[in-house]
Amino acid sequence: MSVIPFKNEPLTDFSDPANRKAFEQALAKVKRLFGKHWDLLVDGRRLKTAKKISSQDPANPKAVVGTVGKANREIADRAVRAAHKFFTEEYQWWDYKARARVLMKTAHLLRQRKHEFSATMVYEESKNWVEADADTAEAIDFLEFYAREMMRLGGTQRVEPFPGEDNNLYYVPIGVVVVIPPWNFPLAIMSGMTVAALVTGNTVVLKPASTAPVIAAKFVDLLLEAGLPKKAINFVPGSGGEVGDTLVGHPLTRMIAFTGSKEVGLHIHELAAKTQRGQKWIKRTILEMGGKDALIVDETADLNYAADQAVIGAYGFQGQKCSACSRLIVTAPVYDRLVKKVVERVKKLRVGHPETNPNLGAVIDEAALAKMVEYIKFAKKDGNKLEIGGKKLDGGNFLEPTVFSRVKPNDRIAQEEVFGPVLAIIKAKDFDNAIKIFNGTDYGLTGGLISNDRQRLERARKELFVGNLYFNRKITGALVGVQPFGGFNMSGTDSKAGGQDYLLLFMQAKSVAERW
Ligand code: NAP
Repeated sequence: MSVIPFKNEPLTDFSDPANRKAFEQALAKVKRLFGKHWDLLVDGRRLKTAKKISSQDPANPKAVVGTVGKANREIADRAVRAAHKFFTEEYQWWDYKARARVLMKTAHLLRQRKHEFSATMVYEESKNWVEADADTAEAIDFLEFYAREMMRLGGTQRVEPFPGEDNNLYYVPIGVVVVIPPWNFPLAIMSGMTVAALVTGNTVVLKPASTAPVIAAKFVDLLLEAGLPKKAINFVPGSGGEVGDTLVGHPLTRMIAFTGSKEVGLHIHELAAKTQRGQKWIKRTILEMGGKDALIVDETADLNYAADQAVIGAYGFQGQKCSACSRLIVTAPVYDRLVKKVVERVKKLRVGHPETNPNLGAVIDEAALAKMVEYIKFAKKDGNKLEIGGKKLDGGNFLEPTVFSRVKPNDRIAQEEVFGPVLAIIKAKDFDNAIKIFNGTDYGLTGGLISNDRQRLERARKELFVGNLYFNRKITGALVGVQPFGGFNMSGTDSKAGGQDYLLLFMQAKSVAERW
């Protein structure tokens, strides 16, 4: 296979009228197809189910973007068995180059239909154009990057020579990987975990998030169009609470690749650790979980720039990114001035239906909105000062972008993941205190520092304990291959998606020695 070096997929320039027009056409096309249904895919066959999952537009919950079949426990069990059979009998022997080619072809197809996939996320997850476009670009990156990584890791690996023997080391696939993604990067994270498992020679049982099944169904169609054998992937939407334990606890499940909340991740960790009757291996898990990410701004920073970066990080995709800036820690001398600058910017943010490309769309569903409103109540009770926002808006699951100042490091909105457009601004006595506050949660996903003090930047490089640390920029938007992604502590297993170690998690190494 001739392979040009990896390059990140460029983002669409929406200031270009031609691109705007093309995107509007894609939005219209997706809207025309509202209500389309996708069946499950189990053992290479489409499977009809009595129950359905209906995927709604969060900004207009009466609109049904599409429906998918809904698996029950019996179907989940069948899917794992079928995946195991196909793995054992056929897929594990597929040439790694052929598997890599499927990913490259899928990337090609996705690039051709880029706006259509992005437009789907505008309606299904309420991403604005820019956020949806970035999600699709990241999915293309995962396909391109992992295809190249497999070319590097396929075939025999380097070992030291030994006289009189031919020694080889090969990375071999491990079995059935259950993929459980979140809804917030419904294309990028879902596809990234799925294709990492497939390109390494494993079969997949994919259970998409219940609020993001349509984009996943479309992606599965694309993989099949690119030539993936139908039996290599089982598509089983279903309620995590209902089918999750069957998939995770199944004795034929070899690995679980999960991204989502801490609560569910820890539950999976526990269940996967329990050996089931007939189980022949220790299950592997990738568990990428939540965050309480912080940006420190000190008195040497350019405050206008710092306010811009904080606001982008806090409110992009309504604050529903695991990497979102949910805590802004500011040293005392510039605290009041920075709060004011943040509020000035938040005042200008526009909330609306994402098809009109506002700054913020709706939050994912009513339950999430209710949780955010609860946190706003906790914040008021804790004596935090509501600077702006805090109210629900009509028409969909809309919440005003919200800023709280006078937040103390151990207040609830400074410790727990709100996962919405709510920013907690905390005052630090000095830089030492800022570091302490930064590290003072159970999480350790992303974070950053904006400072012009070299010594502080060097200290922060060592002492700020997160998986993805950024200096003098926003703390969201990790790029595949450039900033491998994964968190410390209760943010997860630090698998570093989009990095050079990632595919190894889906394989085991086999050493073969032949004496001459
Ligand atoms: P979630 O509620 O934990 O759900 C994630 C997935 O787990 C969904 O597919 C869900 O299915 C499934 N699930 C629910 N209960 C389950 C169970 N008992 N067994 C197995 N699977 C189960 O998380 P979310 O609301 O989708 O996503 C938001 C969270 O993800 C946030 O905490 C965010 O920080 C985190 N996140 C982390 C990263 C990272 O890289 N660290 C990236 C993105 C998001 P249903 O939809 O059917 O419930």
